[in-house]
Amino acid sequence: MADPVAHDVSDMCIDLDCNATTRPLPEVVCALTHAMHGVHHNPSSLHRPGQLARATLERARATVARFIGARPEEIVFTSSATESIVTAIVGGVRQYSGAPRAILTTRLEHAAVIEAAESLEKSGVAEIVYVDHDANGRVESERVDTCIAACNQRSMPVAMVSVHAANNETGVLQPINEIAKVCAQHGVVFHTDATQLVGKVGCDVGKIGADTLSFSMHKFHGPRGVGVLYVRRGAKMIPLFPGSQEQGRRAGTENVPEIVAGAVACDLAGAWLSDTSHRAERVALRNHMEARLRSLIENIVVHAEGLPDGHRLWNTVNVAIPGASAEQMLVMLSEKNICASAGAACSSGSIEPSRVVRALGVPEDVLNSSIRLSFSRMTTRDEIDRAVVAIASCAARLRSFV
Ligand code: PLP
Repeated sequence: MADPVAHDVSDMCIDLDCNATTRPLPEVVCALTHAMHGVHHNPSSLHRPGQLARATLERARATVARFIGARPEEIVFTSSATESIVTAIVGGVRQYSGAPRAILTTRLEHAAVIEAAESLEKSGVAEIVYVDHDANGRVESERVDTCIAACNQRSMPVAMVSVHAANNETGVLQPINEIAKVCAQHGVVFHTDATQLVGKVGCDVGKIGADTLSFSMHKFHGPRGVGVLYVRRGAKMIPLFPGSQEQGRRAGTENVPEIVAGAVACDLAGAWLSDTSHRAERVALRNHMEARLRSLIENIVVHAEGLPDGHRLWNTVNVAIPGASAEQMLVMLSEKNICASAGAACSSGSIEPSRVVRALGVPEDVLNSSIRLSFSRMTTRDEIDRAVVAIASCAARLRSFV
C-alpha cells in the first residue's frame, strides 16, 4: 500500500507555532503505537481483554490526576480542550433552570469559550458579560468581583465565570487563584481554560481552586484527539453526551490508546517541570529572543514585555513590526521553513488580525503586523537565533516596499 503520509516535514522547519500544537515525543508515539496494538478492546466490556483495557485506562487517569493534583474521579477524558471547554460552560450553565443568568468572561478567551457562551446567549439561557482587562490583557480579580456585584445588583444572578489561565496569543498569565477566591466568596462556579498553562507551568488544581478546568496534551508534546476536563468533586454539570462512560459525564467509548499516550506526555512534562532550572532557562531564552529582535528590528513592539516573569508564559513572544504586514511576514517565513502564526485564517485564505490583540486596543499598524512566535521545551537556542535573523531580514524587505 502507498504511504498515506505524503511528506515528513517535521525535521525540516523551525517550529515557532507551538501554541497551535507540538510534536509528540518519541515516548508518546511509542506508547500510542503499543497501546493501539495491545489495548484495543472496549474498557466497558466484561471480558478479560476489556477489563485489562479498563485497568490501563484507570492507570492513565491516575497519572493525569496526579499531574494536576486532582483525584482520579475528578478527571473526565474528552476529545480535545475545545470539547472540555464547551462541556464545562454549556453543561455548567444548563444545570440552572428559570430566568437567564449571566456568564462572565473576557474578550481575550479562545474561540471555544466565546462560542460556547454565545450559543447559550442565543438560546436565551444566558447573557454574556465581559470583564474588562488592562492594556497588557491582565484581568485582575477586583474587576471580576465588581462585575459579579453589578450583576447581582440588577438581579441577574451569575451562573459562571470563565477566565483563561494563560493567553494563547500573548502568553499573559491571569491571576486565576485570586479569581477563584472571588468566585468562591460569591458562590459562583469558576471555569478556567488552562490549555496553554498545563505542561508549561506547574498546575495544582487544589491551589487554583477552580470548579472546572480544561486542557489537552497536544500542547505539550502529547497526542491530539484527547482532552481533559477536571470537575471538582461536588461540582454539578449536565453532560453534553449523556451515557454511562466517564461516570456518566461523557458518553462514547474511551480512546484508550490516546489517553495512555497523553498520560505519558503528562509524566514527561511533570519530570521536566520538577527541575526548576528548566523554567528559568526557558525564560532566559524568551528574553534572549526578545532582546535580539529588538536589537535587529527598529520600532518593534513586544506585547506585554513590561510584565514580570511570573505574569508571562516562557514560550510566547508576540511582536508587531509596523510596516511589515503579518500575513506577508508569515508567507515569507514559511518560505524559509519557519512556522509562526498571526490571528486566525479566514475562509478566503487570508488572515484576520488577532481578536486578542485587537481587544488590547493597539493602533491599526500594530494590529496588522502582530505575529506570534511560540516555542516549546524542545526548541533550541540555535533555532531561535536563526529564526530571529530570518524575521529581521523579512522585516527589512517588507518595510522597503512601503
Ligand atoms: N484554549 C486555548 C487557550 C487554546 O490555545 C486552544 C488551542 O489552540 C484551545 C483552547 C483548543 O484546544 P484543542 O485544540 O485541544 O481543542
